[in-house]
Amino acid sequence: MMNDCSPKHDLLGLSQPQMTSMLGELGEKPYRTNQVMKWLHHRFVDDFSQMTDISKKLRAEFENIAEIVEPKVISEKCSTDGTRKWLMQSRSGSAFETVYIPEDSRGTLCVSSQVGCALDCKFCSTGKQGFNSNLTSGEIVGQLRVVERILAAQRSDSEQKVTNVVFMGMGEPLLNADQVIPAVSVMMDDLGYGISKRKVTISTAGVVPGIQRLKENTDASLAVSLHAPNDQLRDQLVPINRKYPIAELLDACRDYALNLGEKRTVTIEYILLDGVNDQAQHVRELIELLRDFPCKINLIPFNGFPGSGFKRPSSRAVRFFQEKLVQAGYATMVRTTRGEDIDAACGQLAGKVEDRTKRSSRYQKIAQQMVD
Ligand code: SAH
Repeated sequence: MMNDCSPKHDLLGLSQPQMTSMLGELGEKPYRTNQVMKWLHHRFVDDFSQMTDISKKLRAEFENIAEIVEPKVISEKCSTDGTRKWLMQSRSGSAFETVYIPEDSRGTLCVSSQVGCALDCKFCSTGKQGFNSNLTSGEIVGQLRVVERILAAQRSDSEQKVTNVVFMGMGEPLLNADQVIPAVSVMMDDLGYGISKRKVTISTAGVVPGIQRLKENTDASLAVSLHAPNDQLRDQLVPINRKYPIAELLDACRDYALNLGEKRTVTIEYILLDGVNDQAQHVRELIELLRDFPCKINLIPFNGFPGSGFKRPSSRAVRFFQEKLVQAGYATMVRTTRGEDIDAACGQLAGKVEDRTKRSSRYQKIAQQMVD
């Protein structure tokens, strides 16, 4: 039972089992879960009084103990290529970004899982700003709800819809697994947004215990930001590698893929940085490293931002890298850059992070522990 000081239940973020258990505590039957989740995620209701098939008593109780809160949209930018980026506000007052990328046959939503990021990958603009806070499950699901709502309202002239979700916005999802796991569940649930498990992708810089935890809790798709073919280089580019080196990371991925079955594989993401990890020796090493590791490879030509110190390789160099991998038998795609004119491309999401890592010794310690 809740008392006056308990925080209210954040309904948007509750997975089906969590919702059933909360309703059970209120003495409600499991079928209520269906009703409430449909109001929340299919009909986008924001007000308990609109939940007309639910008893007055439960509605009154909800007023006291529960809330439906979407992140607030602060601003929107639209790219010439149709990509849209929203700056949203978390409950804690910090700003984060969400990007929608329309394509002919699909619409991909790129969601944030944290405000800022503690991992400090050297080529990432979010990382440069430090870590501020975790988003809640409700705020993660809320990004999808807000965008679905906006698209639905504008759908008369186009058939835009979110068909895919990627956790490739701000933050490291597996350092916020407590919130990401229920959010993913709502996204894939038919009572939620019904997005296929193959079309919800969690991207990680390599938090090995997080991958193990994910395996026990979801069958969403997994992408791993490898970015280097050996530990020496990866230690520099993706500092969390010093804690979870490549061999351990690939083992965890293999395990994850085995658990998925159905011939599903993990996606390897590999950013291409001019002169740093895009040379003939790197592709040779990468092919050797991934021998016997069933995967798809996504090459991401570096997206620049001021002061990054890196350059995007020429298209010739990108093609060379791709061809070598294809010849070695790997399904290899080059991720096309979308929304660059509005800083919406991978690694450019900045939001307006007030970095707490640099200001508080407590956060500094947390960030340090992550890479030690
Ligand atoms: N923390 C997660 C999600 C990050 S963003 C992860 O590391 O996977 C998704 C992808 O964009 C990651 O592969 C990330 O390494 C990549 N990325 C980051 N900065 C980039 C940049 N400037 N250019 C291109 N890709 C970038």
